[in-house]
Amino acid sequence: MNSLQQLENKLDNCIFCKIAAGKIPSKIIHEDEELMAFHDINPAAPVHVLIIPKKHIATLSDCDESHAALLGKMMVLAPKLAQQQGCGYTINDNGSGTGGFKTLFNTGPDGGQEVYHLHMHVIGGPHPWRGQR
Ligand code: AMP
Ligand code: ZN
Repeated sequence: MNSLQQLENKLDNCIFCKIAAGKIPSKIIHEDEELMAFHDINPAAPVHVLIIPKKHIATLSDCDESHAALLGKMMVLAPKLAQQQGCGYTINDNGSGTGGFKTLFNTGPDGGQEVYHLHMHVIGGPHPWRGQR
């Protein structure tokens, strides 16, 4: 398979490649040269956003040092998007913190990964992972 065929194969089979290419609709909240972020179709919490690289990478285990900058960009984007979506972490005048969010990469079957295109979950709201709203 040549590289063009490989690209076509990924686009045909990978739902997040299709989203990145604008082939299927999504609720996009951020796009730049390398990354895209959109609302999860089946949110587990009041805020549930996915950050993906536009380029296809299957899992976190497929990343090496050459991906460090890209992964760093994903991490740095997360709190900005959380802030935009109303679940940013804030320190109040009295020094106590409020708000906040969870970041998560699922990797492989035992990690609960369902979509094999690297993505970071940004999950926010009052303790959403404990089922509280
Ligand atoms: P994971 O289990 O980490 O692979 O998570 C995959 C996530 O992708 C799940 O939370 C799904 O709800 C979400 N998802 C699957 N298809 C779509 C889609 N077309 N648009 C937005 N989110 C999606
Ligand atoms: Zn993909």
